[in-house]
Amino acid sequence: MTHDAKRLGEFELIAKYFAPLAGKEAGAFGLKDDAAYLRPTAGKDLVLTTDAIVAGVHFLPGDPANEIAQKALRVNISDLAAKGATPRVYLLTLALPPAIDEPWLKSFAAGLKRDQAHFGVTLVGGDTVATPGPLTISVTAIGEVPQGHMLTRAGAQLEDDIWVSGTIGDAALGLRVGQGELVDFDDKHRATVLARYRVPEPRLKFGMLLHGIAHACLDVSDGLIADLGHMSEQSGLGVIVEAGAVPLSAAARAATAAKRMSLSELLTGGDDYELVVAAPVSRRKRIMALAERTKTKLSRIGRTTKGREVLVMGAGGERLNFERRGFTHF
Ligand code: ADP
Ligand code: MG
Repeated sequence: MTHDAKRLGEFELIAKYFAPLAGKEAGAFGLKDDAAYLRPTAGKDLVLTTDAIVAGVHFLPGDPANEIAQKALRVNISDLAAKGATPRVYLLTLALPPAIDEPWLKSFAAGLKRDQAHFGVTLVGGDTVATPGPLTISVTAIGEVPQGHMLTRAGAQLEDDIWVSGTIGDAALGLRVGQGELVDFDDKHRATVLARYRVPEPRLKFGMLLHGIAHACLDVSDGLIADLGHMSEQSGLGVIVEAGAVPLSAAARAATAAKRMSLSELLTGGDDYELVVAAPVSRRKRIMALAERTKTKLSRIGRTTKGREVLVMGAGGERLNFERRGFTHF
């Protein structure tokens, strides 16, 4: 840790910046005990998820600290949304390189505070360590679903509709902007896609209400095509996607029109944190009403089929091929 953070000391740092985020949550003991407890609501299952983000991999080292905090929390909230869960608490592990100072921590904690209020979730514990490596933030989030009703990737059935929330490919474009590319691209578009990369919008209000309507759900983190592949594999079904039906933002449409980004790059770019939902045709009206009620943009992009493949069809019914399907770490 830097001079600053070191002088502050690990326990002071936790007391000053993180204990306030534990608020009145009884089981958190003001972040002063070895562990926290959580009493599950009667009739609910706990849903557990964890995701780490690493400087240079999931965010850029110079990104604003408050937005890094928001991303760390939001990628986890997105997983809970995809399981139909309502968030309750989270744990936070920080591996801090020497350059981290107090202003950075202050901004980071402010980002968490803002999102805790937004998503109804409270910090209940974590760990703080120094690292000679890149800044790494790991969040473990815990939510609840009615017993036996967690949505899975495996539940899709034959002839289900495949829906997707929001728009696809913006974060992939935003990463390019963040890396200093696309400098001559429209300023408004640049700002929009950069924000989509830095601070994704988990579709929580919509996801939380999907149990009982959807057969299967997942969030798009690796890339739409790759993640459809995960659903297809787990459900033991094929998926046909109509490329023209995949929702693109004005920025993404402008980028493809100007040949700055291909459709294939948008559909395999990842970091979208949109929900992919498989639901029976008979529930079309219900799912559309739910999207409207929660102000969620929702598009029907395809359906499940026999087989095991994800097929993407062009406007003329031709099959589109993708060199890469999505992001993989290894
Ligand atoms: P231990 O001695 O068991 O390793 P620590 O000294 O790591 O515990 O942490 C002391 C307390 O501070 C614990 O309640 C822990 O959950 C909390 N804590 C440590 N780091 C963080 C963090 N980054 N965010 C939230 N709580 C934290
Ligand atoms: Mg301990």
